[in-house]
Amino acid sequence: MENVITVTSPLMPPLEEFIPYLEDIWQRKWLTNNGYYHQELEKALCDYLGVKYISLFSNGTLALVSALQTLNISGEVITTPYSFVATTHSLWWNNIKPVFVDIDPITCNLDPEKLEAAITPKTTAILPVHVYGNPCDMKRIQAIADTYGLKVIYDAAHAFGVMQDGTSVLNFGDLSILSFHATKTFSTIEGGAIICHDEKTKKRIDYLKNFGFADEVTVVAPGINAKMNELQSAYGLLSLKYIDNAIENRKRITLYYRNELKDIPGISIMQDYPSVIHNYSYFPIFVDEHKYGHSRDGLYQKLKENNIWGRRYFYPLISDFPTYRGLSSASKDNLPVANRISKEIICLPIYPELTKPDLDRVVSIVKEII
Ligand SMILES: *Cc1c(COP(=O)(O)O)cnc(C)c1O
Repeated sequence: MENVITVTSPLMPPLEEFIPYLEDIWQRKWLTNNGYYHQELEKALCDYLGVKYISLFSNGTLALVSALQTLNISGEVITTPYSFVATTHSLWWNNIKPVFVDIDPITCNLDPEKLEAAITPKTTAILPVHVYGNPCDMKRIQAIADTYGLKVIYDAAHAFGVMQDGTSVLNFGDLSILSFHATKTFSTIEGGAIICHDEKTKKRIDYLKNFGFADEVTVVAPGINAKMNELQSAYGLLSLKYIDNAIENRKRITLYYRNELKDIPGISIMQDYPSVIHNYSYFPIFVDEHKYGHSRDGLYQKLKENNIWGRRYFYPLISDFPTYRGLSSASKDNLPVANRISKEIICLPIYPELTKPDLDRVVSIVKEII
């Protein structure tokens, strides 16, 4: 049997280059709490991403939970069912009611056309996701938020390095969060961040991730422990040297897949957007069962039999999980597009080390099954 091709594989810097960082950390004996590498990584990421303020977190989920705390969000928040479950869980952990709005069939992001109809007197914020790193319609979303006095927090877990019209997508909305989980394009093994636009907010976020401590004796809020430690920060700092190369390789793979899969009846693929710099984190394809002759799950199984692990990302919808399915906004009638897309989606393997023979193995299954 041929070797397994997983859907992703972590970006890991050369071990021998990590050793000096470890030796330095052992010398400093400062392991967490805004240490040297934590500060260095925050500076380096501001530079790399083109953002003003970033606060590192132990993971993306706690960054989301803390972002909602930062802005005192309560009541109802409008969000998408087509995301990783942590998006909606962050609302649950803040005792906020999620209100699901359907997605756009092309971008798979929250459909701004359907947003206003979901606003009630209890709505305080919008929590959209840049799915697969495709930028949301940020101008429309902001215009609606301004009209109704709502905050906007972007779940930008997929959007590391994504730019639109020459600026980072992270510069939109009140706050954005990133995830640096091992499966993401840029990783600190586990990790995350909140991006904000002013120093005061940055301070508040830094308090919140450290129990609410403003100084030795002052606790200004019921904060949590969500700090990134020095080993993760150093890992990130070193990985940052390899990220451009990793994204270039992801682009190479994307272009290869696109070319090979473009004429298969019943298989749709995503294209680049004008004036957007993409990060090629995922390679989603959409299976139209009738035109393709096989279901999405049929293709998923066929790949698996051949030791290729696709991922149905996102399936099931968040709105179908027991915690949320009782909500009126979770009904299938309210979310027709998300329900259709979640039955068609399969993400193909993509990570920098994939070779042409690997890709040909994947492509041949998608082609031969018909
Ligand atoms: C990965 C991910 C998260 C959660 O991030 P963790 O770092 O794993 O906690 C949240 N939202 C989306 C869209 C994600 O893909």
